[in-house]
Amino acid sequence: MRVFIGLGSNLESPLEQIKTAVNDMQLMLETEFIACSSLYKSPPMGPQDQPDYINAVIELDTELAPHLLLDQLQQIEQQHGRIRKRHWGERTLDLDLLVYGDVIIHDERLTVPHPGIATRAFVLYPLAELDEQLVIPGCGKVKQLVKLCPRDGLQQVEKIGL
Ligand code: ATP
Ligand code: MG
Ligand code: MG
Repeated sequence: MRVFIGLGSNLESPLEQIKTAVNDMQLMLETEFIACSSLYKSPPMGPQDQPDYINAVIELDTELAPHLLLDQLQQIEQQHGRIRKRHWGERTLDLDLLVYGDVIIHDERLTVPHPGIATRAFVLYPLAELDEQLVIPGCGKVKQLVKLCPRDGLQQVEKIGL
């Protein structure tokens, strides 16, 4: 299944956190790496007394079922020393399952497509770089969503070169 993962970090060398997380996801079982967006810098979404974020989106082709994929993503967050202090607070690494093919999930562990996908600049702009023709189930085409979404201070910082 074709999936997109949103990455975010604003603690302990965020650029390195994102690059090593991309590498970690390339090593996941039953999963093929397809592409990574550029890296972006964005102001914090929740509490404002925290550093700016580095964000990216990656595209994978995986045989892992959605909850097994989430297990893998959460394991990688843990390896990166993720600690949950406060809602939308600072973190070494956040890995969100944005889209899992055309599948819709609403259960206690997973909401897919990710609920923030249609309104977050730091998700939509990198996603549009990878596939602006992508149709997000229940939300519409990325190309249209990105047009409606202000950049909110989002800046492209570098091409990852993968
Ligand atoms: P947001 O989800 O608004 O971006 P967040 O990423 O800071 O907030 P987390 O603390 O990383 O939230 O995750 C909280 C819980 O969200 C996780 O324990 C996980 O079970 C659940 N969750 C639900 N849907 C998803 C999804 N699509 N991707 C990742 N986690 C999800
Ligand atoms: Mg998140
Ligand atoms: Mg998360």
